[in-house]
Amino acid sequence: MEMRRRLAALGHAGLDLLFPPVCAGCGRAGHLFCPRCAQAVEPVPQPICARCGRPQPAAVAQCAACRAASARPLRLSRAAALHTSPLRQAIHALKYEQQPELAVPLARYLIAVFAEPPWAGLDATLDAVIPVPLHAQRLAERGYNQSELLAAALASAAGLALHPGWLARSRETRQQVGLDAAQRRANVDGAFVASAAVAGCTLLLVDDVFTTGATLHACAAAALAQGAAAVYGLTLAMPAYTP
Ligand SMILES: [Zn+2]
Ligand SMILES: [Zn+2]
Repeated sequence: MEMRRRLAALGHAGLDLLFPPVCAGCGRAGHLFCPRCAQAVEPVPQPICARCGRPQPAAVAQCAACRAASARPLRLSRAAALHTSPLRQAIHALKYEQQPELAVPLARYLIAVFAEPPWAGLDATLDAVIPVPLHAQRLAERGYNQSELLAAALASAAGLALHPGWLARSRETRQQVGLDAAQRRANVDGAFVASAAVAGCTLLLVDDVFTTGATLHACAAAALAQGAAAVYGLTLAMPAYTP
């Protein structure tokens, strides 16, 4: 690691020659996320629920999960792709294996879906892109917020303002992995606080993975409590099944 750090002074070109990047999807040398893996990323199959973006047997305005939700602070949300191999491995590497540079190739999927409906009609109404925040302690441990890196790439490509400071975690939460839908809601309920700056604004929340939607809903509720006009959600991936 020390050697790698010293070599970094030689510049990235030299570093890549000596330590070629290894694909986070398949492990082959040469790319952070190789063309073969990029080709294998699965789009969310149509038709979908118009509100939450989950695949459905037929196109619906609201699926059973959306109808069952007591509060629906998100106006609508979409995922760019399915949380399946090899994207799943790449997201894991981005989050847990200290590979923040993966945000650039992975953000391509967010940028691509953002050019399509419903975003192509909504983009002009958005005042800010806000990443789902990490708790300060987790941010300090990881050194970066993967959702902020994804949101920054999208905001830059779309010409939108990025405001990571408009949303914060007010308390630490357990990892959502391994929790059922009700546990996930309870885990993140009230865990976020929005800045007064969101008042009157239409916001796009960005996160890495949409599972039950509990995290995005808790963030959206915090923004609406501070007077946000409307909140939308966009994530890189969602599971192929409804949990
Ligand atoms: Zn690969
Ligand atoms: Zn739905």
